[in-house]
Amino acid sequence: MLLLLTLACSQTSIEDGAVYGPFTQVKTSFTSAFVATSETGAVLVDAGFQDNGKAVEAFLETQGLTLDDVSDVLITHGHSDHVAGLPAYPNAKVWAHEDEVELILEEGPEGLSVDETLVDGQIIELQGFSFETLLVTGHTTGNVVYLSDGVLLTGDSAFLFKDGTVGPPSERFSLDPAETQAELLALRDRLEPRKDEITAVTFAHTGGLSGDLAAFWEMTAAE
Ligand SMILES: [Zn+2]
Repeated sequence: MLLLLTLACSQTSIEDGAVYGPFTQVKTSFTSAFVATSETGAVLVDAGFQDNGKAVEAFLETQGLTLDDVSDVLITHGHSDHVAGLPAYPNAKVWAHEDEVELILEEGPEGLSVDETLVDGQIIELQGFSFETLLVTGHTTGNVVYLSDGVLLTGDSAFLFKDGTVGPPSERFSLDPAETQAELLALRDRLEPRKDEITAVTFAHTGGLSGDLAAFWEMTAAE
């Protein structure tokens, strides 16, 4: 129990409604959905926890949209707190990395399907936004982050901690913790040449970084 408390204290809190480029972080229980809206609809990165879409619906309402207007949901990975909310979006096409489909079907609500699969480096256009898929394995087999409009949406690949550092999720949540850490550092190195392009970094379970991304670029391996 002591360990749990320590972990719970060390990560920053989700900031419901925080804005990162075109994305708004919508808190659903202890996780988040990231919502980008256009004049014709909305795209989500991760579906959020099962709350019948209530939190996302409340945000969409402020934009003059409804749950029916969600055209696409891009899934970072198949853990239930990222896919449980999917049934709330009846018209949405579900996207995920091809290696993650199995876990999504296993952990997600019954009757779920993945409509489109993605591969590393693939770029797609949805609602006028471009999404680049970057594979970051270790947390799960087909775990990805998405780069969209200068915003790096990391899902569970990384957390922002209260001491101002960015690092991988707690070991007990990842399939392969060592690989999770190595892949996160590799992602940072991969994106380093494109530093000027990236203006914000988001995390599903914590607050995010906007403008000053030093904590992301200066990540180091744990002892
Ligand atoms: Zn996860």
